[in-house]
Amino acid sequence: MANDNSKGIYPKEHYTHDQAVKELLVLYKSADKRHYTDLFLSGLNRPTLNGGFGAYALMKNFTEHTHVYEGEIPKDYPDMVGCEICGSYLTGGYTDWPMTHDIYMLHGNNALCIYDRVYVLRKCNVLDKPSAIKPQDFAMFAEIISFLQAAEPKNKIQTVATKLKTADFYQPLTDSIKAHNKSGVSMVKDTTALRIKTILETLGLCGILHSEEQRGFFFESINVNKTPSPSSKSNWYYPVDFWRGQDGIDWNAFDYWFGDYEELKSLRNNR
Ligand SMILES: [Zn+2]
Repeated sequence: MANDNSKGIYPKEHYTHDQAVKELLVLYKSADKRHYTDLFLSGLNRPTLNGGFGAYALMKNFTEHTHVYEGEIPKDYPDMVGCEICGSYLTGGYTDWPMTHDIYMLHGNNALCIYDRVYVLRKCNVLDKPSAIKPQDFAMFAEIISFLQAAEPKNKIQTVATKLKTADFYQPLTDSIKAHNKSGVSMVKDTTALRIKTILETLGLCGILHSEEQRGFFFESINVNKTPSPSSKSNWYYPVDFWRGQDGIDWNAFDYWFGDYEELKSLRNNR
């Protein structure tokens, strides 16, 4: 059972879709928004990044539902049909392997699947307050925002990601990621390019980067497996793959998540 803690807080049992949905909503309700934005900001300019903020942001319009599937259920693999509402299988689960931990807790991956999201929110909800957000973390966030604002109207997100190689934070971050990879502490190896992609995709999930038509999870409930894509060649996740320079920053979404941080108030002057 999902709530059976007799084998520890991260049981290996499988869940049904409906159990996972219920648990996610309980976890989301008891979560502290500031804790999740702190986790995100405090990891920005460090060799590892926690993926909890993306998982938490995906829950904003997540609603209670039972597994819905309108097609004919295949006899050979009845459990493996994706829910029309959230995209997840009828049953699923996770194992608390070090690799699972590293992918979501150190590598910053966004937990699109509800079973992985249960893992991430469980783990993050009970995490101690993250270490203090350093001036360098705020400076890196501000620098990313300024590069996004400086993009040409038709620029795609990849163009901004490439330009960020000239940002002040880029080389020191690259050095610290390389040193961390060498240390062998994480099973997953990161790169600065992957890190930037994760950060920009997370800014899409939380509603800060989107296009006018494709606005994403901050605004509505969306099946994570049925998101549109502007091109078959896009290797960016929704909705940031639709973003163009002309779309700029969604300051309402920005304020929803980061409006209380004094250290980021100066960004207001440049809106
Ligand atoms: Zn579902």
